[in-house]
Amino acid sequence: MADQEKLRNEFKVRFGAEPRLFSAPGRVNLIGEHTDYNAGFVMPAAIQFHTTIAAAPRTDRLLRMRSVNLAETREVALSGALAVQHRSGQSAHWVDYVAGVAWALQQEGIAIGGADLLIHGDVPLGAGLSSSAALEVASALALTRVADLSIGGLQLAQLCQRAENQYVGMRCGIMDQFASVHGRAGHAILLDCRSLEHRYLSLQAAQLLICNTMVHHRLAGSEYNRRREQCELGVQALGRKIPGLTALRDVSSAQLRAFKDALDPLIFRRCRHVISENERVVAAAGALEGADLAGFGALMRESHRSLRDDYEVSCDELDLMVRLADSIDGVYGARMTGGGFGGCTVNLVRSDRVQQFRSQVAADYARATGRAAQIYVCEAADGAH
Ligand code: ADP
Ligand code: MG
Repeated sequence: MADQEKLRNEFKVRFGAEPRLFSAPGRVNLIGEHTDYNAGFVMPAAIQFHTTIAAAPRTDRLLRMRSVNLAETREVALSGALAVQHRSGQSAHWVDYVAGVAWALQQEGIAIGGADLLIHGDVPLGAGLSSSAALEVASALALTRVADLSIGGLQLAQLCQRAENQYVGMRCGIMDQFASVHGRAGHAILLDCRSLEHRYLSLQAAQLLICNTMVHHRLAGSEYNRRREQCELGVQALGRKIPGLTALRDVSSAQLRAFKDALDPLIFRRCRHVISENERVVAAAGALEGADLAGFGALMRESHRSLRDDYEVSCDELDLMVRLADSIDGVYGARMTGGGFGGCTVNLVRSDRVQQFRSQVAADYARATGRAAQIYVCEAADGAH
């Protein structure tokens, strides 16, 4: 609240108008990594870290935006210049996330106007907790509401995804934006990324901790897009055996084993991760509903191994963080979360072990790497507002 008042006041000083505030959360994914763009299942929860935008309309067609986090002000003209950027994801500038949303809104025929935007987020940037989706969703809300427009939650999530895919150049699935819009306090979301059907799962029995390795390897963006291409190659090859196949979501583990010889060994391992991960999400939902935290934790551990060995999106720091967590009594499971190559792990921990977990993991990680990890007790939060 104090932060919101500060943002409001800074807006008044800087832009000379009374703003409205819009806020969208980051998310943590409990299980189901790199499955969303394969039309599969994911299980994210919105978290208590948000991007907040103070916004007021302008009379011209200019977007003037300042990121408090990056201490930078930029201007973008709404008309003409908002052509698709075709960026690689690697070279994205923060302004692209906001301009991309404006572009996607206009593509949908939603007639937004100029606006002043003051942006502040406490979602750690580039840590796999989706500060990007939080920024997009907060921008979409701000740009529509200050123009007295309103759009439905699902359309909002989808056009934010399109902004990131086509304007920023990061070929992410729908998970991050969906979770930022549809999060519910105390719950994870079991989401079918094809039908977009979803169900809320109570997290009451579970204590989630997030460990930030504080590293972010530069490959993240380009390797992410490469994994998507590898999945598409898998669908092509398996499609010769399974007529009409459009997504790895429709391949069972038994089918994958049967058609192993039709696949390049690397592509086989990529497919094995996606297909087994989908099965794990479905099993994990059952475990959570049955309050079987040990069962849920075992699936998290398998998920990490699969991401590390088959999908190859982990890194030394994430592996270390998971090992440190696993060595503590009372930890049900731990895994990397988000796209990988740094960022965070998510941990399911018995409530009476939270303090021990925090001090022991922090100390051991510092000793091994010389870095100070950040460890957050995670509260599942409501979606954007
Ligand atoms: P993640 O979504 O895991 O945090 P991404 O690389 O997808 O990582 O997105 C991070 C990028 O989003 C940042 O590098 C920056 O360009 C942009 N971003 C997010 N939050 C802010 C903010 N508050 N101010 C400026 N840019 C932001
Ligand atoms: Mg992101």
